[in-house]
Amino acid sequence: MSIIDDFQSHFDAAPDGVWQAPGRVNLIGEHTDYNNGFVLPFAIDRQARVAVRLRSDSVIRLRSASAEVAPIETSVDQLSSAKGWSAYLLGVAWVLRELGISVPGFDLLLESTVPSGAGLSSSAALESATALAFNELLDAGLSRKELVIVGHRAENEVVGAPTGILDQSASLLAAEGRAVFLDCLSRESELVPLDLPAAGLAMLVIDTKVSHAHADGGYSARRASCERGASALGVDSLRELSVEDLPRAQTALNEETFRRVRHIVTENARVLEVVAALRSSGPRSIGELLNASHLSMRDDFEISCPELDLAVETTQRNGAIGARMTGGGFGGSAIALIPLEREQQIRSAVLLAFSVAGFSTPDLFTVLPGPGAQRLV
Ligand code: ADP
Ligand code: MG
Repeated sequence: MSIIDDFQSHFDAAPDGVWQAPGRVNLIGEHTDYNNGFVLPFAIDRQARVAVRLRSDSVIRLRSASAEVAPIETSVDQLSSAKGWSAYLLGVAWVLRELGISVPGFDLLLESTVPSGAGLSSSAALESATALAFNELLDAGLSRKELVIVGHRAENEVVGAPTGILDQSASLLAAEGRAVFLDCLSRESELVPLDLPAAGLAMLVIDTKVSHAHADGGYSARRASCERGASALGVDSLRELSVEDLPRAQTALNEETFRRVRHIVTENARVLEVVAALRSSGPRSIGELLNASHLSMRDDFEISCPELDLAVETTQRNGAIGARMTGGGFGGSAIALIPLEREQQIRSAVLLAFSVAGFSTPDLFTVLPGPGAQRLV
């Protein structure tokens, strides 16, 4: 395995082991996580791999095969001040130390096939691979669910990104041919069948490569609207509301806050419907729910953008089973559930539509539900 040879040539010794963890796609359940609701991600067949060797001193040496980042040398006393790409890895070591687990120096080589910043959670892949590696190397004895929290804390407290537990849960709790149905309130998860090849399907990701300037502000504004809606309706979180509560919400809230609330309430219901449909009828039966989710994000939650709408509409017109934007919105990626035999037609149609509209050329690739994090060597 080339990562072992590369490790050997950079660090003059063999690694103690190699671990990998996947990126993810969120099939449905958008902005529901911070409302204590439901999400349904799956792990993709693209992973981050880490080769690690523990050292007898306190030195830490990190390298990534990615040409975009420089190697780092630091020490175990400086974990909390980690910056840039190293924060995802060193943040994990820092959390373990906070939990009372002693972490020595180490050499680590990272290779990843999860594209960075495309909304496929390359960051959770890094954290999850590292968390699994240290859990085994240090005999920490943490469960997968506990490792989810370790990665989540690293991203929030060391990287400084205020994200939910969706990404790490997908990476650590997934299984091949399955989606991870996660309840963000109880943090319980269940695996749901999602065998796309058996149904003659694939998931096409359309990375629009656009990031609109108001993305960060838009995200906080949506969170604030949800909190306002919940408090006006006398509930701790929007998770507690169902579609039967919407008429009351419409009377009590202003027009915009009502639409924000309606997205969260109907999106939670759609996640439950997708889970039931996957269990009873398989992935060909979820197309309309994916389409409805996109409309809700476009019109009620207002987090889509012209590039995402064009990607969704073009795939739908060219034979997709269903399509929606995925991730936080205001740019990033859309997903389309497509029949395998339509792939070329749909790809060409999207490229043509983007070119005609004068948008930047998107990145197109298919993903399948792959295995969760695991040790390779
Ligand atoms: P996403 O998780 O959607 O891909 P994030 O901004 O959360 O986007 O995480 C991307 C960051 O993760 C990059 O800016 C970089 O710091 C780090 N990263 C991802 N892949 C690699 C890699 N192969 N090598 C080094 N750092 C990486
Ligand atoms: Mg991320």
